[in-house]
Amino acid sequence: MSGRLEVICGPMFAGKTTELIRRVALARASQRRVVVLKPTRDSRSAADEIATHSGTRFEARSVECAADMVALTCGVEILAIDEVHFFGSELVSVLPQLLTSPRVIIVSGCDLDHFGEVFEPFPALLQRADEIVRLNGCCAKCGAPSTHTQRKSHARERIVVGGSGEYEARCAACFIPTAR
Ligand SMILES: [Zn+2]
Repeated sequence: MSGRLEVICGPMFAGKTTELIRRVALARASQRRVVVLKPTRDSRSAADEIATHSGTRFEARSVECAADMVALTCGVEILAIDEVHFFGSELVSVLPQLLTSPRVIIVSGCDLDHFGEVFEPFPALLQRADEIVRLNGCCAKCGAPSTHTQRKSHARERIVVGGSGEYEARCAACFIPTAR
């Protein structure tokens, strides 16, 4: 494997997508071939873009599953994948293939779910990463640096697509895991 892996993680509302967009914008400015992928399931923004909570946008392609990424990234020098936790352990399976090219892969996503448990791709991603950035937001209860994502509703599914109506940022002390 000769590629470089950069991992941006943390809870929701911590600026992960903002940091991803900052990095791909720099890469594009240096004339390198950039592709941004996002999961089809993330329906919060249009299918052909990623968007931050503050409204910054960047063009992207939606993919159904991680296996589809290989065919879409031939010749790509900078590959960015947003909301990487949606792809689960399947992403870990295709990662070696994606990293065979001498490219930079930047991934961003939530490392912990609303039960407070680690999302599948992260142990493997963090182990392979050349660079790890774990961002904090601001706890909605006490204002301390946030590390967790609190689900406000009682839905128990692991992934429910939503924004500030469905989730809020919490520090570890204020975080209450969703009841199983
Ligand atoms: Zn707090």
